Amino acid sequence: MLTKTELAELLEDHQQPAYRATQILDWIYQKRTRSWDEMSNLPPALREALAQQYPLRPLTHTLTKGSADTTRKFLLQLPDERYIETVLIPASPALYGEKSDRHTLCVSSQVGCAYGCKFCASGLDGFTRNLKASEIVSQIILAEELSGEKVNNLVFMGMGEPLANFTNLTKALEIITSDWGLNIGARRITVSTSGLVPQIKKLALLPQQIRLAISLHGPDDQTREKIMPVNKKYDVDELFGALRVWNANKKQKITLEYILIDGINASTTHAQTLARRAQSINAKVNLIPYNTVEGLPWVRPSDDDCRHFRNVLTKANVSATLRLEKGHDIDAACGQLRLKKEKNEI
Ligand code: SAH
Ligand code: SF4
Repeated sequence: MLTKTELAELLEDHQQPAYRATQILDWIYQKRTRSWDEMSNLPPALREALAQQYPLRPLTHTLTKGSADTTRKFLLQLPDERYIETVLIPASPALYGEKSDRHTLCVSSQVGCAYGCKFCASGLDGFTRNLKASEIVSQIILAEELSGEKVNNLVFMGMGEPLANFTNLTKALEIITSDWGLNIGARRITVSTSGLVPQIKKLALLPQQIRLAISLHGPDDQTREKIMPVNKKYDVDELFGALRVWNANKKQKITLEYILIDGINASTTHAQTLARRAQSINAKVNLIPYNTVEGLPWVRPSDDDCRHFRNVLTKANVSATLRLEKGHDIDAACGQLRLKKEKNEI
């Protein structure tokens, strides 16, 4: 999939007039054409040449799992026969401040993940490869086609660590936010990271006002290191240093994602430390009771313990949401469905 600049260069190579770029972008992103053959206002030789190099549909839909609350999870196959997942959530979490008639799509950025967080299905099989920008953008186009719904919010919270795929992520963001592309407002896009400090600082300098979510899951080094190996590379203080750089460049509040795991990170002391951390960067907190992953030992605390944890934050004047569970019954935690497919369980 092409950006406007790439297309302009390509057309120059083919000695084509510049207005062809507008025609082609319109076919790809507005008319959502499935093949170059359909681009009837282009010379056939050009269509053929570009079709060889730039397949318009790199993803094949393999299966959809729908849950009782109509969250739908799409399993998609890549040209090299790997699988990725995309999840469409009808009512966006209150956290993102949107009305409930909105549709949020949760996209993947890599096949697998190299960061190996101890609670996460995506990291279980290690890292395979980065997704290309076209494979990221196609998840949105395909989800809209399969569901008949318009995607209004986008979260990079599927499989993979988006900031470890920085070049393709920023190219995809350009296509997604541009008026010649998918034209989704940057404020409706959230990139989630496990805390890659140099890339957070780089991303802060992008012109688009995208939102940032941090998978924190532990408010101090001792707790975080137990479940997130990335903390050995970038500790909590360094991470918060990068978040202050983010705040200096962006207007929207940062979201701290915090999975509640019984006996690990869910005590009152953890809540108090988290509250201080959140206050220090004026962040809001999204609490997620742990979603069971087959083969992993972790469990979520009781509902009462989860509510108590939230109350500690609220009393400290930190805005905190306790996520109303969606998609629990369709293996919605990242990487779970793809793992089953690769183990031939579905
Ligand atoms: N790698 C990035 C983007 C993936 S986001 C990141 O970690 O931020 C995926 C989100 O789902 C992260 O916040 C992750 O911590 C969370 N997650 C992973 N496994 C989960 C589980 N079993 N239950 C609930 N949330 C989980
Ligand atoms: Fe990778 Fe994010 Fe899962 Fe950690 S939580 S293993 S960084 S996808």
